[in-house]
Amino acid sequence: MDAQAPGNPDRPDAPDRGGNPGRPGDHDRLGDGTRVVRAGLPEPVPHRPALPGPVFAAHYHLPGDPVGPYTYGREQNPTWTLLERAISELESPGEDCDTTVFASGMAAISAVLLSQVRAGDAVVLPDDGYQALALVRERLTAYGVEVRTAPTAGDAQAALLPGARLLWLETPCNPGLDVCDIRRLVAAARAEGALVAVDNTLATPLGQRPLELGADFSVSSGTKALTGHGDVLLGHVSCRAPELTAAVRQWRRTAGAVPGPMESWLAHRSLATLRLRVDQQAAGALALARALRERPEVTGVRHPGLPDDPAHAVARRQMRAGRYGCVVSFTLPDRAHAERFLGALRLVDEATSFGGVRSTAERRGRWGGDAVPEGFIRFSVGVEDPADLVADVRRALDAAG
Ligand SMILES: *Cc1c(COP(=O)(O)O)cnc(C)c1O
Repeated sequence: MDAQAPGNPDRPDAPDRGGNPGRPGDHDRLGDGTRVVRAGLPEPVPHRPALPGPVFAAHYHLPGDPVGPYTYGREQNPTWTLLERAISELESPGEDCDTTVFASGMAAISAVLLSQVRAGDAVVLPDDGYQALALVRERLTAYGVEVRTAPTAGDAQAALLPGARLLWLETPCNPGLDVCDIRRLVAAARAEGALVAVDNTLATPLGQRPLELGADFSVSSGTKALTGHGDVLLGHVSCRAPELTAAVRQWRRTAGAVPGPMESWLAHRSLATLRLRVDQQAAGALALARALRERPEVTGVRHPGLPDDPAHAVARRQMRAGRYGCVVSFTLPDRAHAERFLGALRLVDEATSFGGVRSTAERRGRWGGDAVPEGFIRFSVGVEDPADLVADVRRALDAAG
């Protein structure tokens, strides 16, 4: 943890709650549902809320020598501190790690890649990862970094490792839902002296813990399932090595992509329901994937939880508690068919993004960046009753057919 962070922003001298659930020593006895509701909470203060409200401050009272933790608003904020502590407890319950929160997932991704690589370095990226990763790739190339890419499936990125400085993984990848073996790729990267970062957005730390699997950086967009209500943009980077955290924090200071206190507070408040949401979403996604399999007009149904999905064997080894995520992808015969289907859904909003409490779906090809068929649908399962959702999808498929 950040040694300078106080246990309570209202009482910077208050000690850390001794048995704070989720801290080393406690993690074995508590379930995820218990850990998320207490994650990052400070020592209680009489007549104050359990989760202190957002602290709005561009600067803090700072008499005398300018020492931390709270000096200027771009450096640190008490609301971030509590959220960073909460996420650290979930990313790495057995061992200390530090989390740095950012204004968005892309800010977090850029912080790792742009703080770690220099001109002349080589990095290995997936060629089927999040769309906007291509923008970072362009930037890296412009800065004189050699970018090598390969698909996520089959650990194909391993072959590109010799001489690389950093390996970037995204598993399960979005929107194709292929999976790679993090432990195996970390071993291969170690042999080459390369760092490993994992984009864990789809799984959330309750579904997969990249740091435990050996990665140096666990990176996520908090905009998706982590906060789950589709009302904030946020990102974070978690690392165990203090020098890596220092580099990421220095980048945040440099680029200034800091989250707002209100967004940070909403995210912390939303973490309390993370276990309920991810379990409900995973159950709904599996039910939907199974129902889609029965339809002759639907092809290419992908969900890592389906026992015969190509990603299932590896996903089962490295993902946790049957939490294979909220996304199901599949293909309808053509663009018009897909548009009729989306238009006929009643319980599902046509929208991008994923991981929210309300189900959403979109024809991914409308963005033009992913290598997907015209009728490809990315479906994000919310927390509705799965039977209602499946009935709505069946009805919309009938109407579109
Ligand atoms: C959405 C997403 C991002 C980017 O997150 P933002 O918060 O939108 O910047 C990165 N990686 C994955 C896998 C995503 O789905």
